[in-house]
Amino acid sequence: MVRKPLIGMTLGELESVAAEAGLRRFAAKQIARRLYVNRSQSVSEMTELPKASREWLEEHYCVGLQAPIAEARSTDGTVKYLFATRGEGFDFLDGGAGGRDVEAVYIPDRERATLCVSSQAGCRMGCRFCMTGRQGFHGNLTAAGIINQVMAIPESRTLTNIVFMGMGEPMDNIEEVLKAVEVLTAPWGLAWSPKRITVSSIGKLDGLRRLLDETKVHVAISVHSPFKQEREDLMPVEKAFPVAGVMGVMKNYDFAHQRRLSAEYIMWRGVNDDLRHADALARLLKGVDCRVNLIRFHAIPGFDHVTADTETMERFRDRLNELGVTATIRTSRGEDIEAACGMLSGKEGAVEKE
Ligand code: SF4
Repeated sequence: MVRKPLIGMTLGELESVAAEAGLRRFAAKQIARRLYVNRSQSVSEMTELPKASREWLEEHYCVGLQAPIAEARSTDGTVKYLFATRGEGFDFLDGGAGGRDVEAVYIPDRERATLCVSSQAGCRMGCRFCMTGRQGFHGNLTAAGIINQVMAIPESRTLTNIVFMGMGEPMDNIEEVLKAVEVLTAPWGLAWSPKRITVSSIGKLDGLRRLLDETKVHVAISVHSPFKQEREDLMPVEKAFPVAGVMGVMKNYDFAHQRRLSAEYIMWRGVNDDLRHADALARLLKGVDCRVNLIRFHAIPGFDHVTADTETMERFRDRLNELGVTATIRTSRGEDIEAACGMLSGKEGAVEKE
């Protein structure tokens, strides 16, 4: 029996569902409350709805919450969760070959508890240093599939931050990502502050413009090299969306007040870790309020470059700071369970079955 999941639906969509079920418009708010505040597990719990409508709803819709099918725990407290993308009668994937699992990573850190969510199964951007990119594209996650990652993990209610930095390029699935951000931040939804959400992108400008215009979330751009040819060798997207052009567009937005922009920069020894790169990166970011996160690299099969050493990274960071660009070295988490940046594969076996 095909039943559509209700989680991930916006208020507008729930209003259409309510109309289909023969309910008055305000019932959409009651359903939203049940889904996102009470976290009901089934339609039958929505006892404030008339019995006949509830029964109709149960026939055609389900709440759709799907617990992770496996998890791996790091010695540093990081947990990687594996989610199936097929539920009973519905699919969290759209527009691809389907049938693949996705991963989310829970990262506790003193007073913060961050969840890194996936927006696609696989990815079509083909960044050479990324395990997800290696596996090709298997489909866009629906907003339900994104929201499920946030709501179905055991630590859901203790989360303080959400980052869209898992599998996939969020701008390549912008409609569903925007919907998920709406559900996360709306007062009728999960009521998160947009200041606690960061969406990353490799610079796919069409989607990025919409994200900036239609939400207030923080934005992170993966830069990895300030030089065109070098970046193109690492990230084919540079051809279509040169990072210089992306940063030019960023100048039109305000990142000095409510919303933050960061540049993500993975450092490889002898590739992009000398001071010439630091100087060019500072020039690239001139006129944009942007902090830089320097990231260690975790080796993946078939990619020869190795991470820069700590001393070189510190020198690079200090140079950026001297040039007036705030830069920090990001702590690496979950490497032992392949949960660190660029390591997500969503493959069976990468996460232990319970
Ligand atoms: Fe896709 Fe991001 Fe991996 Fe690039 S780094 S292939 S955009 S998931």
